[in-house]
Amino acid sequence: MGTSNKSGDQPGLSHSILKVALPVPLRTTFDYLPRAEWTSNQLQPGTRVLVPFGRRQMVGLIESLTNTTDLDLADLKTITKIIDPEPALSPSMLSLCRWVARYYLHPPGEVYGLALPTLLRNQERPMVDVSVTWRLTQKGRLIEINQLNRAKRQRIALEFLREHPAGLQQATLKGFGVLPAHLKGLADKGLVEPHEQSDHSLAPVPADQSAPTTYWDQKHCLAEAPLTLNPQQSQALEAINAANEFRVFTLAGITGSGKTEVYLQAIARCVSLGRQALVLVPEIGLTPQTLDHFKRRFSVPVVAMHSNLTDKERLDHWNLARTGRAAVVLGTRSAMFVASANLGLIVVDEEQDLSYKQQEGLRFNARDLAVVRGQLESIPVVLGSATPSLETWHNSQTGRYKALTLEQRAGNALPPKFKVLDIRQQAVSHGISEPLAAAIDHHLKANQQVLVFINRRGYAPVLMCHDCGWFKECRHCDHRMTFHASPPHLHCHHCNYRCKTPVHCEQCQSTDLRPVGLGTEQVEQHLSAIFPKVPVIRIDRDSTQRKRSMQQHLQQINSGQPCILVGTQMLAKGHHFPKVTLVAICDIDAGLFSVDFRATEHTSQLLLQVAGRSGRGKDPGLVMIQTRQPEHPVFDCLLQQGYFHYAGQMLQERQQLMMPPFSHLALLQAESSKPEAADSFLQQVADWLLPLGTEFATEIWGPTPALMMRKAGRFRFQILLQSQSRPLLHQLLAATVQWLAESAPSTVRWSLDIDPVVME
Ligand code: ADP
Ligand code: ZN
Ligand code: ZN
Repeated sequence: MGTSNKSGDQPGLSHSILKVALPVPLRTTFDYLPRAEWTSNQLQPGTRVLVPFGRRQMVGLIESLTNTTDLDLADLKTITKIIDPEPALSPSMLSLCRWVARYYLHPPGEVYGLALPTLLRNQERPMVDVSVTWRLTQKGRLIEINQLNRAKRQRIALEFLREHPAGLQQATLKGFGVLPAHLKGLADKGLVEPHEQSDHSLAPVPADQSAPTTYWDQKHCLAEAPLTLNPQQSQALEAINAANEFRVFTLAGITGSGKTEVYLQAIARCVSLGRQALVLVPEIGLTPQTLDHFKRRFSVPVVAMHSNLTDKERLDHWNLARTGRAAVVLGTRSAMFVASANLGLIVVDEEQDLSYKQQEGLRFNARDLAVVRGQLESIPVVLGSATPSLETWHNSQTGRYKALTLEQRAGNALPPKFKVLDIRQQAVSHGISEPLAAAIDHHLKANQQVLVFINRRGYAPVLMCHDCGWFKECRHCDHRMTFHASPPHLHCHHCNYRCKTPVHCEQCQSTDLRPVGLGTEQVEQHLSAIFPKVPVIRIDRDSTQRKRSMQQHLQQINSGQPCILVGTQMLAKGHHFPKVTLVAICDIDAGLFSVDFRATEHTSQLLLQVAGRSGRGKDPGLVMIQTRQPEHPVFDCLLQQGYFHYAGQMLQERQQLMMPPFSHLALLQAESSKPEAADSFLQQVADWLLPLGTEFATEIWGPTPALMMRKAGRFRFQILLQSQSRPLLHQLLAATVQWLAESAPSTVRWSLDIDPVVME
């Protein structure tokens, strides 16, 4: 915003202009004046205010105080109201939000919005619920009750209040049919008066921040005894515990090596010092046992933060964290924006997981923000994974992060053995080769469980005409429709468009339409047919849509009876199924030959994560991988020498190609309902950018159509910017964003993805 100083040197104006962030898609804050009677204590940055904006009133946040404005002082409007008696965001959360707005070049009002629970975003509602208690006045106690005979409800209220001299809550009186209007009637007569009381459990943080209060018993934080650590776990824990300022640790431990136990003990120490811990996990809905595990371990308050909570629950949990009452906050990526009065440790589990990257709106990466937040709050950050992202691994190799490794499985479990099955010469029925079927049979007969991984839901990715090769494309996307068998229909997985299964080919009228390729439904059906006595549990997005269905599936698996699990990557994430001894990977080849430069990284991570579900209990595990590409280097290097070695090789390749982490990327996308609009607009952007490329050491690629040009009825084009200099790239992007905001036609929607992870 403003650097000019029209009014800054006027006397008496010091700090009397407030920069307010508003939830509008503009990359700026707005200047307002306070009322004369307000004190600076009421006007702290981070406080929510109500302000006139256009013709309406909007809830905003004081972002800073200043004494300069680009506007004429006389034109500035005055803030209508201060909503809360204290700031909603602490100075460190404000710093985080400022960093985010600057780094991702995103409208600040929208960033601050992310740091507030939905209920506080555009509503005047108080942060902490205030309940009103009504009591009788002296006059109310003495008045002859028959005087109220003509106002029946008022009379009832008065009678109740005489029985409850301490007063009654408005909500309680409402239960007896006494409405606020009746109480107001009584108050107007001087018979009752309201007393406001804030919810005690959420009262504001004590003003004296120099000595933060601890709300739990620091000497008794554990509800269950910790496990005895093995030497590598102990080393890792000691290193983390020794850090009492900002330091990033990469906890690289093979699957089943007991990373969770290290987190739990590091957190135990943190909360025993009276400080809070923030733990990020990829998807809580998929692994409810993680939350259970934390709640079982600690006797201090553990609260969850994820999208399955109601708005009210989110508000309550946010307040518990903000005021320092929640000792441990466990959440998904958005929890990175939850304020904590006294944060002492951040843990990001499965730091490579793609769910940490938000793919729309503010495209932030919660893993990267963990590091930024750790630095702002001067606290240690632990990034844990069996298969660290190449960015993180690179940072540990260069010494920027401290690498802690766990090379053995914890307890007595052994790492699984791998077997690569060359299926080129094999009979394969519905994705299952004969040797694989025999192995499944063998493990089931030994009373074990089997996990079959196929990363595609539905019955088959295509329903094709056997006579002419026709198949149905989505009417909104450049993509074929997936065939689902139960109930039969076609479904576009990119825009959710569904339609009936066609009876005839639309090109040659043939009725011979056949599913081609594999999906979870097909494998489930086939396995149920060949193993009729054993339950086959399918786990994918379709089978877990109903609330609690995932929990029911998990219960059945944890009962330990022999069964076959068929599922997508939902099965790869952090589960601990001790009875699974065979993991079968049906169809990995597609992932090995993708145009995305990150494909090998993501495929090898997924492969090892799935494989890691095998042999976690007392019986050893086997992983069978079916492939038609047995010579692919991934098998030799990754499976023989392990992920850390393979990551080193992948990094060398990235360096040769100068791809991230050896360069930085930003993806500018534009979309419109008519293809020409977005395309020609990006062409203009490219014409503007190209001459600047050299000066900013940035290469400009495009515009090109996106990999899937038409998606959900919109045509998408993109420009990729690549640079070895982060600061220069950012300078160029900042200028570009300003240019875009001024020149984009209303028919074009554009977005900027800084450090894109998935480019589709
Ligand atoms: P990871 O997250 O590294 O894949 P987990 O933390 O899930 O591994 O640990 C795998 C299993 O090993 C769990 O059942 C856990 O209780 C157990 N475990 C972890 N540490 C120890 C230990 N020191 N001694 C015995 N068992 C352990
Ligand atoms: Zn046909
Ligand atoms: Zn579609």
